[in-house]
Amino acid sequence: MSTNIQSGSLVQIRRNSTAVPLPHAPAPTSFHLFETELGAHVMLVNGSRVFTISSEIAAALEGSEGDAAQLLAELGLSAPEYITGAPLTDSPIRSLSLAIAQKCNLGCTYCYAQEGGFGAQEKNMSAEAARAAVDMLLSEAAAGDSFNLAFLGGEPLTNRKLLRECTERAVALAQTKHARISFSITTNGTLLTPEDGEFFERHGFAVTVSLDGVGEVHDRTRPFKSGRGSYDRVLANVRSLLAMQQRMQVSARVTVTPANLFLRETLDEFLSLGFHSVGFSPMLSSPTGAGEMGKAEMDVMLAQMISCGEEFERRVARGERYSFLNMTNAMRELHKGTHRPYPCGAGAGYLGVSADGGLYACHRFVEDPAGAMGDVKSGVDVARQARWLAERHVHMQEPCRNCWARYMCGGGCHHEVIHRGRPACDYIRGWLHYCLQAYIRLLERRPEFFYA
Ligand code: SF4
Ligand code: SF4
Repeated sequence: MSTNIQSGSLVQIRRNSTAVPLPHAPAPTSFHLFETELGAHVMLVNGSRVFTISSEIAAALEGSEGDAAQLLAELGLSAPEYITGAPLTDSPIRSLSLAIAQKCNLGCTYCYAQEGGFGAQEKNMSAEAARAAVDMLLSEAAAGDSFNLAFLGGEPLTNRKLLRECTERAVALAQTKHARISFSITTNGTLLTPEDGEFFERHGFAVTVSLDGVGEVHDRTRPFKSGRGSYDRVLANVRSLLAMQQRMQVSARVTVTPANLFLRETLDEFLSLGFHSVGFSPMLSSPTGAGEMGKAEMDVMLAQMISCGEEFERRVARGERYSFLNMTNAMRELHKGTHRPYPCGAGAGYLGVSADGGLYACHRFVEDPAGAMGDVKSGVDVARQARWLAERHVHMQEPCRNCWARYMCGGGCHHEVIHRGRPACDYIRGWLHYCLQAYIRLLERRPEFFYA
């Protein structure tokens, strides 16, 4: 196939190392065309390389169908495959989350941990299992290596004493190895105290508070077990932490269900309260099906996300901070040209630890045989881990292998895919399509945002 490309009609916005394609269509799979007020653009799946192109090139690519590879070669855009089908093999554990308390004082309607116990009897992690987990994480640390220890539950602050012991043990162990360790906690916020804040501040915790909306909206999905709403308690507790933030960062995480689709108001309210950032995540799979998002709700969520993104664009263009976490992360990833064969580090460099010391692919797989990976005493089940990494590679997933978003999405959260399938692909592609457009606009209007 020959083309009539004018010299200078192709402008590379960024060359790095990832890949991308089309919004809602399954093919072609090697590129994704999109437009902004600034012109026509293409994202190449192989390498997530973004270009501004002439309308002639855009039309040629659109009509290229099976000849896209040849056309891209003629344009000088061929590159070796950045991602092969080979599964990850050498994957040292860099991050562990401890289900330090498999119990909770709330009765959230959709909880993946089934009110804390993960379908089993409620329990605290033993000191022995916690120590073994910390030691496993740091046992082979070399000078300069970085690690993260996360505390989740259930509600981790129901086992506050062990949380502090683990933190201090990890700090001491990392110091002896000249390694770096960071800490995070996801909490429902109902048990937070100023003393917790001082402890988190001292150790530079990333604190994520689960909040599902403002006032009654939150109370409907996150009540105490008695049925009473938890919003006022959380807000009262979290205020002292918000005022303390120096080393510590306190963020709000909103699980989006059909009951709280008011993202823009929620975002603005939580940012005005002083949260470091606010992020949204749709509820796609709950043990009982409660709170799961359907197609119509995902469409509403996408429109709301884009509305939040447009405000982010306006604020950032004016040089203001507007910490909409999904957008901040997306801009960072697009600028890096992130491309990956998995959606996350689950089962690779990141594992979850159950209260009994069992190892699982991540915090959501705790007590779930589908994600079992050994235990803290005998270590990672390397044969199981290798099988997981081979099976979960995005090239092994349908319909992902033909999806333009495959190396940005990575195939979707393993837990949701295994337990519900892929009900959110249009949402994922729609969001990425918008983020690509926003990336081009911000790069033009506020380039310093990317180089600060
Ligand atoms: S899960 Fe992600 S990669 Fe797979 S088809 Fe859906 S959007 Fe594409
Ligand atoms: S599998 Fe899902 S829940 Fe677990 S770490 Fe990955 S994205 Fe998160």
